[in-house]
Amino acid sequence: MQREQTWKWFGEAPLDLLVIGGGIVGAGVARDAAMRGLRVGLVEQHDFAFGTSSRSSRLLHGGLRYLAQGRIGLVREASIEKTIVHRIAPHLAEPLPFLFPTYRGNRHWVLWQLKIGVKVYDFLCRGRNLGQSTWLEPGEVLERMPGLAEAGLNGGVRYYDGLTNDARLVLDTLRSAARSGAGIVNYGRFTEATRTADWECRLEDCLTGNVTRVRSRALVNATGPWAEQVPHSRVKLRLTKGIHLVVSRDRLAVPDSVVMTEDKRILFAIPWGERVILGTTDTDYNGSLDRITADASDVAYVLEIANQFFPRARLTSSDVIGTWAGVRPLIAAPGGKPSDISRSHEIRNPEPGWWDVAGGKLTTYRLMAEQTVDQIARWLQRTRTPRPAFRPCRTADEPLLTPAERAEVSGILPPPFERRVVEHYCANEWAVHLDDVMVRRTSWQYYCRDARQRAEQTADWMGECLGWSEATRAAELHRYEAAVDLAAISGGSAPTDGTMRTG
Ligand SMILES: Cc1cc2nc3c(=O)[nH]c(=O)nc-3n(C[C@H](O)[C@H](O)[C@H](O)COP(=O)(O)OP(=O)(O)OC[C@H]3O[C@@H](n4cnc5c(N)ncnc54)[C@H](O)[C@@H]3O)c2cc1C
Repeated sequence: MQREQTWKWFGEAPLDLLVIGGGIVGAGVARDAAMRGLRVGLVEQHDFAFGTSSRSSRLLHGGLRYLAQGRIGLVREASIEKTIVHRIAPHLAEPLPFLFPTYRGNRHWVLWQLKIGVKVYDFLCRGRNLGQSTWLEPGEVLERMPGLAEAGLNGGVRYYDGLTNDARLVLDTLRSAARSGAGIVNYGRFTEATRTADWECRLEDCLTGNVTRVRSRALVNATGPWAEQVPHSRVKLRLTKGIHLVVSRDRLAVPDSVVMTEDKRILFAIPWGERVILGTTDTDYNGSLDRITADASDVAYVLEIANQFFPRARLTSSDVIGTWAGVRPLIAAPGGKPSDISRSHEIRNPEPGWWDVAGGKLTTYRLMAEQTVDQIARWLQRTRTPRPAFRPCRTADEPLLTPAERAEVSGILPPPFERRVVEHYCANEWAVHLDDVMVRRTSWQYYCRDARQRAEQTADWMGECLGWSEATRAAELHRYEAAVDLAAISGGSAPTDGTMRTG
């Protein structure tokens, strides 16, 4: 459905379910509900995956760190989910080996404990992890990872998780939802709702300013870090910020992902094509949700840890090709270190027909959606006459897209830089603005050194597809510059050599 048709469709008859928020959780709920036969709408105030779901570490993981915290249930749940994503979206779930070197004197990460830990980790995937873990002698660690700090190295373990592309996972989930009949709109904001027999909702088209009133039997608040701000929400969050840096693999030649530790915390160096993703941080956050940036101090911290583990690399801020920063919408836990707060999720139903879904991880989005839609479907069946017959949940088995639907337009690495690819995003993936394509649909912004030149060409291609005037094209380039400047480092001190780039 085209944008105008979807707005019209919203108003034609009551929805069974309106999903607020087009991150991974909202996308997962919309897909599941549409596949079961509910009449579903979804609104996203910015672009899809604008929030945390395009700013993660891009890992499908059980979380070895959570195992060390004794959170076995959480690890088991996420471990099974990572294998499910691998099954339903193989193009967005690549097995990724992690090398975890251990050093004498590190009392938080002890070799014998890790050796047991990685075997338990494999077991928690019902023995079907994306690869089998192994133990390594110090010589084997260095053979696999030349350049790693040697002093005190006493061995290591190698285990598997998955690499994904967070924003692409959202978009492909939404495409799948739309194919099952969901009506989906980006740049559409939920502003308020009142409950009569159904919920009467006020939605704003952020592109035109038009207001549409929509009736829905049920509502899901899937607004991630914004969840507390939505009217009727009962969510209490603790937001913590994490940043990532992208450097060239020529500067840090890591064949596997590497786990780097700082006390109890762990950071990763993750190979991504010709690039390496370094991250992340975990600090309390109270700033604007629409303007989250990597501070100079965050960047310096990540580079310092990377240089401790790879002393010969001597990485500096001038090696940084791209950055992104996001906030984790964690369920509030007063006090304690941010990294100790649980990553588990909560589904609450504080008023008839209203559901808050919060917390969790990218990896567990499908399960969060299944549990939420189970509750909603049961409630609709109890309260509606005639009693609707919904289909059972099939999201763990049905592929998101067919190989033809995803070929060359969706994957872990950026797609080819071609006009037909951009045309596809405009025609089939709701791309409205230049940054929708440069940042979330392609990651060209983070991956390519010449992203700004590519943005000019992309603006030409989008302009032809979407009928932009010269003035609109100029405004789009201006908007893009502002959006990607947000991805640049703020706080002044790091980019002293003037060569800091975001693309
Ligand atoms: C630094 C970092 C690293 C991470 N790494 C990983 C990882 O490697 N693996 C993993 O599994 N998880 C990871 N996570 C966690 C994961 O990214 C999040 O749990 C997940 O993306 C949250 O998704 P969401 O849909 O709840 O929120 P979001 O993606 O933020 O989506 C919420 C959406 O709601 C929209 N919205 C808000 N208000 C309204 C409104 N009124 N009307 C319409 N729309 C609205 C917002 O614009 C936003 O797009 C990481 C998180 C961070 C911050």
